Amino acid sequence: MDEQEIRDITVIGGGPTGLFAAFYAGMRGASCRIIDALPALGGQLMALYPEKYIFDVAGFTKVLAKDLVRDMVAQGLQFGASTHLGETVTGLTRVDDDGIGHFMLETSAGVYPSRTIVIAAGIGAFESRKLPLAGSEVWEGRGLYDKVLDPRAFEGQRVLLVGGGDSAFDWAVNLQGIAREITLVHRRDQFRAHAATVAQVDALRACGKCDLHTFTEVKAIHGGDRIERVTLVHAKTKEEHELGVDAVIPLLGFHSDLGAIKEWGLDTEKADVKVDQVMSTNVPGIYAAGDITSYPGKLKLIATGVAEACIAVNNAVHLINPKAKVNPGHSSNLAIFGQTDD
Ligand SMILES: Cc1cc2nc3c(=O)[nH]c(=O)nc-3n(C[C@H](O)[C@H](O)[C@H](O)COP(=O)(O)OP(=O)(O)OC[C@H]3O[C@@H](n4cnc5c(N)ncnc54)[C@H](O)[C@@H]3O)c2cc1C
Repeated sequence: MDEQEIRDITVIGGGPTGLFAAFYAGMRGASCRIIDALPALGGQLMALYPEKYIFDVAGFTKVLAKDLVRDMVAQGLQFGASTHLGETVTGLTRVDDDGIGHFMLETSAGVYPSRTIVIAAGIGAFESRKLPLAGSEVWEGRGLYDKVLDPRAFEGQRVLLVGGGDSAFDWAVNLQGIAREITLVHRRDQFRAHAATVAQVDALRACGKCDLHTFTEVKAIHGGDRIERVTLVHAKTKEEHELGVDAVIPLLGFHSDLGAIKEWGLDTEKADVKVDQVMSTNVPGIYAAGDITSYPGKLKLIATGVAEACIAVNNAVHLINPKAKVNPGHSSNLAIFGQTDD
């Protein structure tokens, strides 16, 4: 389908809520696209805690966040919803020139027409926290990276990981056998990373496969065309030492921002969008679901987000085509899955 062709539903956010919205859109025969600022689907689960177990998703006694995302992506995209990753939503206008009306959704990379919008933007668009070192941005792409997209890109390199959370520790483990040397620095001696991963890194240190410096920060980066070494400083003693490295990867978490969504005239409560019982915002045709919504009794959980996605999409389908019932029927009876009514 041509990306400039109008879609029934455009979902802002490819977290669990947005993925389930895409599934329900497809199940109801509605065309759909997902837009997300991150380079990968999965929202908070992939950005903040891919290696953590989740215990309160129906049907699983426990499931790793990244495994849940893998299966939600397979389920969500099975009907052909397209995805636009690495695109931040910047603007929204309403066009009424065809007598029916639709939205034009603007992103950092394009403009997309859509009959309805489902905002599943969670806590906002994520951006990696930068290394707190003035001028370090000149090294971006020349040895300084804020994420590991393909571990093979660090083959044979001396890698410095900065941070004390899951991402920094996970990569200290997962770059083993790929990177030539792995050093981890953290400005404190307490880690946010999962205790099991910290134990794995301790074991790697014990056999000389990884180095860890606590109370340590990057004071300067040196090199020519690319990074060649860094100056590290001990936060307490102020002692400095140089370390030869090919790559510096700060994994300091993300900050999030609702950005343009705040400017669309939506009723909000703090940073959340107010919705009614059918997940409609105060602007007709714009629905919201998941962590971004606010209503009495709201719980910010995966289970509630996916239920809200179901309500939002079924009501959007009915708004687009009033002959289509809000109630989707039972999936176990639907012809789209090869089932028959019983
Ligand atoms: C450490 C941690 C552990 C958790 N554990 C659990 C648990 O055990 N059980 C549970 O139920 N919940 C848990 N949660 C909460 C759960 O992750 C959230 O409820 C869930 O991720 C909400 O899903 P969502 O799709 O609504 O939003 P998100 O997951 O936040 O996804 C929103 C997506 O929208 C994108 N986006 C936002 N704004 C824009 C924009 N302007 N343009 C483009 N894209 C945009 C973002 O990049 C993001 O990918 C946990 C949360 C954290 C942080």
